[in-house]
Amino acid sequence: MRHRLTRSQVRTAAATQLLDSLHRYVYGNPLDMNERLMFEDVPLLDYALAAAEPLPQTALHRVLYDLAYNSWYVAYDDLEFAADLLPEARDFLAITFQEMRIPMPSEFATEDPDAFRAARDKHAELFARGLYFIVDDAFAIAWRMRAILSAFNERLAATIRPLRVTDDKRLVADGRLPRVSRLPAWLMSNLLARETGLCHECGRPVAAALGSAESPHVDHVIALAHSGGNDPTNFRILCAPCNLARGAKPVTIVDQFTWPNARPF
Ligand SMILES: [Zn+2]
Repeated sequence: MRHRLTRSQVRTAAATQLLDSLHRYVYGNPLDMNERLMFEDVPLLDYALAAAEPLPQTALHRVLYDLAYNSWYVAYDDLEFAADLLPEARDFLAITFQEMRIPMPSEFATEDPDAFRAARDKHAELFARGLYFIVDDAFAIAWRMRAILSAFNERLAATIRPLRVTDDKRLVADGRLPRVSRLPAWLMSNLLARETGLCHECGRPVAAALGSAESPHVDHVIALAHSGGNDPTNFRILCAPCNLARGAKPVTIVDQFTWPNARPF
């Protein structure tokens, strides 16, 4: 199967809000009881099992969509239609449709509460589909946040770990998903682009485009032996020596970069 690669610009206001919510989800810090219940409703085991193979719609996309739905769609569904509240509802719609790059449907430019309600019902599906734009924006940012990707994959692994091999046909042993023999080209190119062709551990070049004769090794951040999966967010690029030295040892991934000392004292 071929997957078309698309490019898009990231708008960040809604994406940042969604990433905050992802952070609370991954680290188990719900804002309140409502959010706690909403987090518990995310069918994470289904998403973890779907990661038996690497798919363009990753487990992270699915969780981000659930979180977005529970924030923006529930608000859309709860819009108040009393005449004096229409301006507030319209502000919410204007901002959200702009984040989705969708022109706000003209039917919302009405002062009649019944017509406004009819417009809400008519465009519910448009609004729900529009949330994918916010999800794509948040994913584009999260894709480079290694620490949260690593913690997210640990959460996926925790749902797989207690399973017996007989619980689901995608499992190859108790608590274990299959090894994928070859990653699809779209995923390899995205991993190499993210790592800029360098080994994630030691920083040596592993991409032919950088003049390296070595082939990049693909490493599961949460090893299959520890119930990690093949979600695209669970891979990184290593050089052969780093990969062989690593084995199935658990690793802690942190976000880090180098910068000259900028402190004035
Ligand atoms: Zn290395």
